[in-house]
Amino acid sequence: GLPALPPPVLAPRRKSRKIRVGKVEVGGDAPVSVQSMTTTPTTNINATLQQIAELTATGCDIVRVACPSADDAEALPIIAKKSQIPVIADIHFQPKYVFAAIDAGCAAVRVNPGNIRKFDDQVKEIARAAKDAGVSIRIGVNAGSLDPRLLAKYGKATPEALVESAVWEASLFEEHDFHDFKISVKHNDPVVMVKAYEMLAERGDWPLHLGVTEAGPAFQGTIKSAVAFGALLSKGIGDTIRVSLSAPPAEEVKVGLQILQSLNLRPRKLEIVSCPSCGRAQVDVYSLADAVTEGLQGMTVPLRVAVMGCVVNGPGEAREADLGVASGNGKGQIFVRGEVIKTVPEAEIVATLIEEAERLAAEMDVP
Ligand code: SF4
Repeated sequence: GLPALPPPVLAPRRKSRKIRVGKVEVGGDAPVSVQSMTTTPTTNINATLQQIAELTATGCDIVRVACPSADDAEALPIIAKKSQIPVIADIHFQPKYVFAAIDAGCAAVRVNPGNIRKFDDQVKEIARAAKDAGVSIRIGVNAGSLDPRLLAKYGKATPEALVESAVWEASLFEEHDFHDFKISVKHNDPVVMVKAYEMLAERGDWPLHLGVTEAGPAFQGTIKSAVAFGALLSKGIGDTIRVSLSAPPAEEVKVGLQILQSLNLRPRKLEIVSCPSCGRAQVDVYSLADAVTEGLQGMTVPLRVAVMGCVVNGPGEAREADLGVASGNGKGQIFVRGEVIKTVPEAEIVATLIEEAERLAAEMDVP
């Protein structure tokens, strides 16, 4: 047969240079990576490592931990050593913790040029220490902690202000011949954020870390992030992403992965194609889709499962999917790879789909 074509993407990737965050490459042709941040006190090493393990299992590529005090800095070596994924130390206010994090074996350090006083004077030493240790940096500009000079100049955190802060800080590192950094210019307003990243993308080949900061509770934050990342990634802009939610960090990772999968920037895994239902539906589509989603949770193979309410689009979609059901008249026609394999009573639809999905998954034998 024909060779499998790679799935289409909306735009070629912007050409960014590649850096390393420990074992994970960011920028260039490296896949867009997903990050999150722990919510446990960093001083609580066990709890933090446990959360990192959970994030790793969810598919997180890189994790960031806060380092607000000397006690947190002391916890970094063991966290960096035992974490399965690269650890970035998040430093505000105190440059001395940047050095502590580098010494601790963190893969990268995030610095915020807006709130490290006298930061500019220390860039040279930071650049040298980071280079010697093979540690990369994120210049993390944030609307909520913009450099006071720029706040005075622009009146508020405009895209221009965010970009000027980032480009200025980047130039300081570059003056010291340090190039292993990525940049973020986060704002809580997706429109401002998208404009800022579009402007920044024109100014240099730095890898970009995308984030809508303080995006809000899960529902709002998911939508804001999906809209903003979608706008940028669909133009090829963005090398690593962090969804910020007022929700457990594993949720951020799930949302981030789903955004990338929706844009074909990651292989799709389990996908439920279910109809919204309408006046024609002859089964309760919502509970059927929920039950199937629930039953197939944790399945990692790229399986498309169609759950359709009636015979209008039902057989068509069910046929296009790997597996599907078209319901009607208290029965469900079960399709596997386009063929009706059986018709079962409504009460048996969920169990039959799960059973067939497991059989297909075993056949697919994807690691
Ligand atoms: Fe309505 Fe049938 Fe379409 Fe579902 S498949 S939305 S029930 S017409």
